[in-house]
Amino acid sequence: MTSGDRDPLLEPRPGGPRMPRHRSWAEPFRIKMVEPIHLLTRAERVAAMAAAGNNTFLLRSEDVFIDLLTDSGTSAMSDYQWAGMMLGDEAYAGSRNFYHLEAAVQRYYGYRHMVPTHQGRGAENLLSKILIKEGDHVPGNMYFTTTRLHQELAGGTFHDVIVDEAHDATDLSPFKGNVDLAKLAALVDEVGAERVPYVSVAATVNMAGGQPISMANMRAVRDYCRSRGIRVILDATRAVENAYFIQRREPGFEDRSVADILLEFCSLTDGCTMSGKKDALVNIGGWLALNEDDVFEEARNLVVVYEGLHTYGGLAGRDMEAMARGIEESVQEDHIRSRIGQVEYLGKHLIDEGVPIVLPVGGHAIFIDAMRFYPQIPQDQFPAQALAADLYVDSGVRAMERGVVSAGRDPETGDHHYPKLELVRLTLPRRVYTQAHMDVTWESVAELFDHRADARGMRMVYEPKYLRFFQARFERL
Ligand SMILES: *Cc1c(COP(=O)(O)O)cnc(C)c1O
Repeated sequence: MTSGDRDPLLEPRPGGPRMPRHRSWAEPFRIKMVEPIHLLTRAERVAAMAAAGNNTFLLRSEDVFIDLLTDSGTSAMSDYQWAGMMLGDEAYAGSRNFYHLEAAVQRYYGYRHMVPTHQGRGAENLLSKILIKEGDHVPGNMYFTTTRLHQELAGGTFHDVIVDEAHDATDLSPFKGNVDLAKLAALVDEVGAERVPYVSVAATVNMAGGQPISMANMRAVRDYCRSRGIRVILDATRAVENAYFIQRREPGFEDRSVADILLEFCSLTDGCTMSGKKDALVNIGGWLALNEDDVFEEARNLVVVYEGLHTYGGLAGRDMEAMARGIEESVQEDHIRSRIGQVEYLGKHLIDEGVPIVLPVGGHAIFIDAMRFYPQIPQDQFPAQALAADLYVDSGVRAMERGVVSAGRDPETGDHHYPKLELVRLTLPRRVYTQAHMDVTWESVAELFDHRADARGMRMVYEPKYLRFFQARFERL
C-alpha cells in the first residue's frame, strides 16, 4: 500500500502538478442513526455550572452540548459492530465471540495468547499480580493513574523514565513519548535487573498529551531489555494512534500500512494490557495479551478470580464480538486518518487563533495551557478549573481540568501539588462529532481568549479526601 492509496483525494490529477492545492479529508462514514443533543440557553448554562460547583464532572450529561470530557468508552460503533452485537453467543464457556476476539488480537496485535477483561484496569490488575513482587521496581514512559496504582498495590514502585521533552509543552520533538534509555539503564543498574520484572511502555502517552513513541526507540528499549533479561509490556490502549504517527513522522515508514506498523511495534514487546474503550471502538472491554506460555497460564487461571472464566473475562459475548470487529475497523487507514485529522483540525484552528496549547498536537486530545491562557490567575486559584467552567458557560462544551486540582495534595505537608503543566483537556470521542462541532468548540475557546483579561480564579469550597478532582466544588472569586 502506498501513501497515494491511503489519501485518495491527495492523488495528483493526471498530468497535473505533483502537489495539488490543499484538499480536505471527510469523515469516512455516513450517519444512519442520530442521538439528539441540545444547547441550553446561557442563563440555563450559568445555573447548571453553579449547581455543579464549577466542576465539569458534576454536570449532568443531558445539560452538555458537546462532550469532550474523555475518549474512553464514548466512541460510536459502526453498523458492522452493532450487527455483531446481535450475534452474541452468551454461553458461559467457549463462546464463539471469544474465538473471534482471540483471532483478532492475534492477527492485528500479533500476540500468541490473550484473556479478555472487563476493561483496561482489569488486565493491569492481573498482570501486576502475576509479575510484580514486593520491593520490585517498574520503569515506564510517564505514569498512567490506574496502571501505576495496580503496580503499587502489588508492591512495586513506579519510576518515570520518559524523555525530558515530554514535560515541556512547547518542545516540538516528534516523539515526546520516547523512553530515555540512559534513565532506564541508570535505574536498572541501581536496583538490579532481577528487581525489574518488566518495563511498562505506553503508546501513545496519555499524560504527556497523547505523544507517540518511535519504532526506533521501541527497538532500542527491546534490545536493552533483552540484554538484561527484562520483559517489555506495552500499554496498547492507543497503539493504533501511535502507529499512525510512526507512518506520518518516522523516516522509512511512510509507505507502510498502519496495520503493518502496529504488528511490528507489538512484536518488540512480550505482552500488552489493553483498554478496548479507546482504540478498539467499544463502550466497554479490554484484554491482557502475552507471548510466554507460563505467564499466560497464570493469567488464564487468575482471570477466573477477578473477572470471569477465561473465555469471557467479565464481558458479554456480544461485547467481545463488538470489540473483535472494532479492532478490525480501528486499523483501517481512512478511519485513523480522520480520527487524528479531527484532533489536528481542532488544534490548527486554536494555533491560528494564538491559543497556547501543548505541541505537537497529540492523538486523542488538545491540551490548553491554562497558565499562559489566564496568566493573571495564580495556580492556587485554579486557572484550568476556571477555564473549563468558562468554556461550558460560553458554549455548552464540556472539558476536563488536568492541573493542580487533579494533582491533589502532598500527604506530608498538606500543600497542593503544583504540577508544571496546568491544562484543560478537550478529548475527542471517535466517530461521534463532526467538523461543525469542532468549529463551535474552537470558536468558543477563541472567544474566551479574546476576553481573557476579564477572567477570575476560583476558591475551593468542598474538597473530598480521595481523587478530589471528581467531586470538589468551587466558587468564583
Ligand atoms: C484508559 C486507560 C487505561 C485504563 O483503562 P480502563 O479501560 O479505563 O480501565 C490504561 N492506560 C491508558 C493509557 C488509558 O488511557
